[in-house]
Amino acid sequence: MCSDLLDKGYEPHDVEKRWYDFWEKEGLFSADEKGNAQKSYSIVIPPPNVTGVLHMGHALNNTLQDILCRYRRLRGDNVLWMPGTDHAGIATQNVVEKKLASEGLSRHQVGRERFIEAVWEWRREYGSAIINQLKRLGASCDWDRERFTMDEGLSRAVRKVFVTLYQEGLIYRGNYIINWCNRCHTALADLEVEHEVHDGFLYYIRYPYSQGKGYVVIATTRPETMLGDTAVAVNPEDERYRDLWSRKILLPLMNRQLPVIKDKYVDMSFGTGALKVTPAHDPNDFEIGNRHHLERVKVIDDNGQMSSEAGEFKGLDRFECRKAVVEALKKEGLLEKIEPYQHSIGHCYRCNTIIEPNLSKQWFVKAKPLADKAIRAVENGDTRIVPEIWTKTYFDWMNNIKDWCISRQIWWGHQIPAWTCSGCEAVIVAMTAPETCSACGGTHLIQDTDVLDTWFSSALWPFSTMGWPDQTPLLKLFYPTSVLVTGFDILFFWVARMMMMGLHFMGDVPFKDVYVHALVRDEEGKKMSKSTGNVIDPLNVIDTYGTDAFRFTLAAFAAQGRDVKMSEKRVEGYRHFINKIWNAARFSLMHIDKEYNDIAHESLSLVDRWILSRRFRAAEKVSEALDNYRFNDAAAVLYNFVWHELCDWYLEAIKPTLYGKEGTDRKKATLSVLWRVLHDTLILLHPFIPFVTEEIWDKLPGKKDSIMKSEFPLDDADSGLIQDLDAKSIRLFRDRKAESIMKLLSDIITGIRNIRGEMNISPSLSLAVSVHSQEEPTRRTIEQYKDIIINLAQLKSLSVENTRQRPKSAATAVVDNAVIFVYLEGIINFTQEISRLNKEIGKLASELIIVSKKLSNEDFLSKAPNHVVEKVKEKQRNLMEKQRNLQTNLDKIKALEG
Ligand SMILES: [Zn+2]
Ligand SMILES: [Zn+2]
Repeated sequence: MCSDLLDKGYEPHDVEKRWYDFWEKEGLFSADEKGNAQKSYSIVIPPPNVTGVLHMGHALNNTLQDILCRYRRLRGDNVLWMPGTDHAGIATQNVVEKKLASEGLSRHQVGRERFIEAVWEWRREYGSAIINQLKRLGASCDWDRERFTMDEGLSRAVRKVFVTLYQEGLIYRGNYIINWCNRCHTALADLEVEHEVHDGFLYYIRYPYSQGKGYVVIATTRPETMLGDTAVAVNPEDERYRDLWSRKILLPLMNRQLPVIKDKYVDMSFGTGALKVTPAHDPNDFEIGNRHHLERVKVIDDNGQMSSEAGEFKGLDRFECRKAVVEALKKEGLLEKIEPYQHSIGHCYRCNTIIEPNLSKQWFVKAKPLADKAIRAVENGDTRIVPEIWTKTYFDWMNNIKDWCISRQIWWGHQIPAWTCSGCEAVIVAMTAPETCSACGGTHLIQDTDVLDTWFSSALWPFSTMGWPDQTPLLKLFYPTSVLVTGFDILFFWVARMMMMGLHFMGDVPFKDVYVHALVRDEEGKKMSKSTGNVIDPLNVIDTYGTDAFRFTLAAFAAQGRDVKMSEKRVEGYRHFINKIWNAARFSLMHIDKEYNDIAHESLSLVDRWILSRRFRAAEKVSEALDNYRFNDAAAVLYNFVWHELCDWYLEAIKPTLYGKEGTDRKKATLSVLWRVLHDTLILLHPFIPFVTEEIWDKLPGKKDSIMKSEFPLDDADSGLIQDLDAKSIRLFRDRKAESIMKLLSDIITGIRNIRGEMNISPSLSLAVSVHSQEEPTRRTIEQYKDIIINLAQLKSLSVENTRQRPKSAATAVVDNAVIFVYLEGIINFTQEISRLNKEIGKLASELIIVSKKLSNEDFLSKAPNHVVEKVKEKQRNLMEKQRNLQTNLDKIKALEG
């Protein structure tokens, strides 16, 4: 017997640090760039923001990726898990601006160049925080290849894409109505605007005719924008305004003449049915203005203040101006009424400032031609979205795609590679700064001060990280990537755009599969948020329970289409599972003294054959589940196999052998099987719980290398019936007969254990049992393996009989085609047991009354959904069955007593 090699309890912390350092040092996360004939498997990480702090979303996302990568390595694939971070334009700029503010400085005071330097400095100092947190999670990324969306190579890719799209006419510059945040001083994409319903007002304003008496009343929620009106519009089908068509209107306060135009867009039921048109400050008015060639008058500037176009209101803040305009209108008797009005208002997703639709010169990507290819790629299956339900969302969005505004008015990001000649105003787009103007030869060229939307660089992530625009070996081996693992919240921001860019520039999809996982919510299914106070910090959980328990919990609840309900209690539960594995390994290693030896088939006991066969099934099911992104199913298979089959049955069943005579063939075989099963089980578990498995593996006799270099115990080739049990073929060992026999034996044992439970018999009391069956093969099997039953059911005797006669004073259980009788005389106190059973039966009877009432209620039967009714019926059946059983027991005990 070996010395005790594993510590008594598993202490995760130094184990995790030790093994992670070892894996990194040994280069076990590295992809092989030469790709020596293995299958390639690749994943690009959704790059966390460089300002990020590990939250539950990251933890789930990266645990699932790590499971896949570790699993594919064990399957022999050449795995590249490409890591990196995103420069996160506005987010990072905000962080550094805050830092400057604490020193009493603004970015405008320090200037663009020094500000950008300060951001890089910040990044050097704090930018690896999120990376180090991913390492604590066990993420096996190829860290030597870590990329940053602002590093040199990626910046080159960004410029190349911009210049190419511009030359192809797919990037253009245009005056456009954009969502403008006055605080962040930037344009925001539609998706970056968050809408909230506000209590506001609807102001009814009289717009006088320019000639003659009379006026038209127009309702608006934003009266200050009237200063920029350039028309009044009515619906051509609106008979009420027929006489308006030939009139001109005088814009109040500004005394400007406005035309009346007819446009079908006008909603006749809103307000008075007449619409003021402000092309510079409303996206719909902008479109109307385009249709009718209206002037655009910009009355609100980029700081949210009224511009010189606003006349006497110039310089007022937009909301101050609203008050002033209303006052002025009142004075002139032009305000008809004010009504309370609820409407939806857009807010900046970063700072919550109310968005001002504003006219501005911006850069756009023409999205439609790019989207068409991306739609087709999913239609024809080049990329598969899992779960499939997200495919529809993807199509909906892609089919309604609008041009993508890619310029942002901030400093931190990829500055747009476009220069304007101060001589002739020609715009030059180029990879590097041009020295002279190609139109006039002038040398005074000024680069556009805007930067690109952060998502522009992350849209290139799957190929820019692999060295594009160069044709690198990495691209050749690993593009398209195997799968993208992502949350649904960035399906549009990111996934759809990667599809468009990948197809356009690589001529192939960026990933074969997109696995969309759910959100991590709290125990009750509520979104975790700081204000609710229900946020669970993954690093705290790791500190308390260890990384492995946390990872297994995430996997166990990562069911497709269902949110992960996370609680510390659940992690604690899986911490017990980790302990169970540890204790099972510790027990096993106390007996195993050398590695697996070839075994003669006839030396294997029934339980040996059974556990080998079950081990094979577990491997088969785990791989099938992981290949289809059913992480929770894989985790459940492993949990059941380890806890119930390996620990509850196998380790218990082999104890007599382990503690029995030394040197027998049977014992040698069992020790070899135990080694094999422990060895293989550790490998199966490794992708989920990498640390504890490596720690146990390290103590396994005969191990040569890290568990990361082992082989997943499943071969694609099925070599049929296995007789020769060498180290390779035993991995394919399966034995249906052993499985069915063990099923019978374990059913009998469970039947006896249930009787113990039902009759309140102490586990330490040895019982006398007889099993009756009319089937000769069943009797023979039970007879042959009765030692196993005696051992595991804690019996003093077991007889197998062919009779229909019921013995007296025995409790009964039925299994398949056998009946079990447990003799109770001298074992239980009859009087007590009778009163207990009576109570139980009484309880069941009152439950049955409730259920039966429900089932005779016509209202319930007609209104409840079918599956609910079925459930109630099933409950009724179960209750009746239980009642019958208890009644039988009671009758029996009564008979015994009598
Ligand atoms: Zn903002
Ligand atoms: Zn020029």
